[in-house]
Amino acid sequence: MAAGGRILALTHAHLRTVVRAGISTGELDRIAEEFIRSHDGATPAFKGLYGFPGAICISVNDEIVHGIPSPKRVLAEGDIVKLDVGVQYQGLFTDAAITVPVGTIDATTQRLIDVTERALDAGIAQAMPGNYVGDIGHAVQTVVERAGFSVVRELVGHGVGHLPHEDPQVPNHGKPRRGTRLQTGLTIAIEPMVNVGGPVTRTLSDKWTVVTLDGTRSAHVEHTVAVTDDGPKVLTRL
Ligand code: MG
Repeated sequence: MAAGGRILALTHAHLRTVVRAGISTGELDRIAEEFIRSHDGATPAFKGLYGFPGAICISVNDEIVHGIPSPKRVLAEGDIVKLDVGVQYQGLFTDAAITVPVGTIDATTQRLIDVTERALDAGIAQAMPGNYVGDIGHAVQTVVERAGFSVVRELVGHGVGHLPHEDPQVPNHGKPRRGTRLQTGLTIAIEPMVNVGGPVTRTLSDKWTVVTLDGTRSAHVEHTVAVTDDGPKVLTRL
């Protein structure tokens, strides 16, 4: 998983350099797939997963997750784009997401991204043997709500490894010392989805794209993390 996670991290680093106003999400998807497959044996894990048509999920502005890449969807200055990538490598899965600004973004949107990244770090810090899933959710929720933003409830993090999605669920809200106990060797995807406005979502008629009900912007960042005796080990960061 660490080797696959490194390929995923390199994919994200590459995509950061190609995001710009005027590029389509379909082109970003093509670049991502080509980059992943340039590593021997690595494949984009989301392609065809539950019937998803893209290689990666690309969601813009008020789209939270599961956006379908399209040559018709062209990024504009001031947008934010979420790149959610799964990699399958040597039979194991890793999962990570970044939120990338397109050119210059407004101050609230920058703060949204900063808070979401801080919330992820706070959640990762709780991924210790003996802690609980609720400790992660509580840490994420606390950072987000202190900043005046809201966490999405309908979508959650998850176990990952032999399959793209495994138990346990890892919500981005919760109470300390509640839920599944974390044990050494567990690998989980922690993925706060944070909205400027309210937490409620709806799904577009394409049956995939999840957006904020109130139309405000959303940020999403994610890492695959191993729970180890030495503490949390992030597998999808360079
Ligand atoms: Mg993901």
